[in-house]
Parts: sequence; structure tokens; C-alpha cells
Amino acid sequence: MLRLPSQPTPTEWGSNWKDIQPALRKVRRSMASLRTSSLKVMRVSQLDSDILDLELVDILKEQLWNALSLFKPTIKENYEPELIGLLNLVLFKLSVYDSSATYGSQLQNLKYRNEWKHGGAFESIAKDAPLTQTQKIVYGVLTVGGQYAWTRANRYITMKGWGELDESDIRYKVYNVLQKGEKYWKAFSLLNFLIFLWNGRYRTLVDRMLAMRLVYSKKSMNRQVSFEFLNRQMVWHAFTEFLLFLVPLINIEKLKMKLMRMLLPKSYLVSSKGYDKLPANQCAVCHDVTTEHSGPIGQVPNFTVHNPYETNCGHHYCYYCIQSKLSVFGDEWPCLRCGEKVYEIKKYIEKVQDDENDDKPSPAIEQ
Ligand SMILES: [Zn+2]
Ligand SMILES: [Zn+2]
Repeated sequence: MLRLPSQPTPTEWGSNWKDIQPALRKVRRSMASLRTSSLKVMRVSQLDSDILDLELVDILKEQLWNALSLFKPTIKENYEPELIGLLNLVLFKLSVYDSSATYGSQLQNLKYRNEWKHGGAFESIAKDAPLTQTQKIVYGVLTVGGQYAWTRANRYITMKGWGELDESDIRYKVYNVLQKGEKYWKAFSLLNFLIFLWNGRYRTLVDRMLAMRLVYSKKSMNRQVSFEFLNRQMVWHAFTEFLLFLVPLINIEKLKMKLMRMLLPKSYLVSSKGYDKLPANQCAVCHDVTTEHSGPIGQVPNFTVHNPYETNCGHHYCYYCIQSKLSVFGDEWPCLRCGEKVYEIKKYIEKVQDDENDDKPSPAIEQ
């Protein structure tokens, strides 16, 4: 029920409310002097928006050059700064001037706000002050106009050769000032960028000069980038990298041989190729290699052991053959004649046998 202003009814809460006013005022005052938590805007989004803007300009430039390719090539050469300036001007009008954000920043959910109105305790307040007309226009003049003027001036000065004139010439002095100006601009830009990395406020020098800060245009919004796919990609990438690092350290041939020895009976390993029946002066490895890769037709292969070495199982192979097997398979290589693991070899010195009664044929080994 509405109460008329002519019938004030003093209530208990009304007097209480009056009583606590001094305390409330005190609290309010102390809150205003407190610093609010600083506004954090992701630096990576701000830098990404810059990259997106540059890419957009590149795409449009390419389209423009394609369109101009039917005209005389001198048009592009002579009026390139003007054409790019015009393109930038159109982009500036449609983006920053109309909606206080470049296209890249819009994609990153960012917009410019007037930071002169957000000093001190007002940094994180919910309502963003829009850019003033002056800020926008000066921004346009500095970015679009500045870039155009700089390119044009540089072209003109290089064409006229001002840098090679006499030092007393006024044109040389202008050239010198411009050179120094460029140096200082770059140095300050670098400094600004370092400060940006530290506190994440102003991305460029122009932004800082005009107090135009990029803030979130919608405060509560989910991240647009889904990191799930990215994370998966990174995990797989790291995994393959690790495997590529690991593979050279694992002796696959040795493992294969170990598995074969575990699964297949020893007798099969020996008798499957029939090297146990090979004459003693023949090298089974040479035989094996030649049957794997058949040599030139018509050439009778020579399997006689060269530079013989004896294995721990007492069979003879060429030094080259046995050593190459050992370096590939380690101590897992089975002797082709008896199937024993070969872990040790030593040079075989043929003993000259004086015993005439010995009718065993001495191994004909070529040294
Ligand atoms: Zn051999
Ligand atoms: Zn053997």
C-alpha cells in the first residue's frame, strides 16, 4: 500500500538507518581512496589483434594489386603510398572511427577506451568511457596520415639524394633530422613495448600518447579459442618428438633377434638355412649375404673365409662379416652354424701341423 508523503510514519528501521549514516559515509570514503584491483587484459590477445590487422591489410593490398594488374604497371609504382594510404583510411573510418576498435581487436573481443577517464581507483569500473572525437581523429592522422607522409617523404628524399648533399645545405639538415627522428621513434617504440610486456596497458606508442587502451568489449565471455585441439596437437607433437629421440637409442635388430630366439626353437634357427652343413673353410655370413642379395650373374661367388676370426662357439668367419654382425646385433646374434650366442671373437691362427699321420684335411684358409 502506497504511503502518502503527508503521513510520515516513523519506524524503527528508519531511525536505525539515520543512526548508521556516519559509519556508512566513512566506509564509502575509505573505499574511494582504496586502489581497486588492476584491470588485466591478456597481452596475447592485444598482440594477436595487431597481427590480424596486418594480415587483413595484406589481403586487401593483394586484391588491390590484382585489380590494378590490368592497368599500366607505372600506376602501382607511382601511386603505391597513396593507394595504401587510401586503403588504410577506409579501414580506419570503418573500424576505429565508427566502432572504436580495429577489425583485429573486434575478433579478439577488444575495443579502445578513453583511459584519461579511468585513472586511479576507476581503472576496473564496469562502464568504459568511449573515445572522444579528438582522440579518434588524432589517431587516424597519426597512423594513416603519418604512415603515408613518412613513406612519401622517404621516397622523395631518396629520389632527390638529400643524404649526399653538403652538410651546410638545409635539405641535408632536414634529412638528418628525419633520420634521427626515425631512430628515436624506434627506440621509444621498443621502450613502450617493454613496458607493455610488463604491465599490459598500451600496445603502441600512439595508443600511449592518446591514452587509448584496449579493454574487453564484452566483460564476461568465454574464450573464443578452444584449447582442447591445440593441447592435443601439442601432446602428440611432443610424443613424436620423444619417439624420434628414442628410436636411434634402441637397437631394433637386436630386439628382433631376441624375440626370434625366444619364440623359435634353436634347431630351427640353425637348420632352416642349412649352414651347419657348410664346409669349414667357408664363411656362412658371406654365403648368407650373397643369397640375400644375389650378385652379378656369371660370377662364381667366393665364400672362403678371409682374415678368419673364431667365435666363442668355435666357428670361423671373416673378420669383417662377424664384426659387422656383432656391431648390429650386439651379443644377440646366433652363430649361423650352431645357433649359439656369439659374444666374443678372437683371431684364429692356423697351427702348422707337422704330424704326418694326421689325415684330417687342414682347413684351407687364405690369409
Ligand atoms: Zn665372410
Ligand atoms: Zn657356432
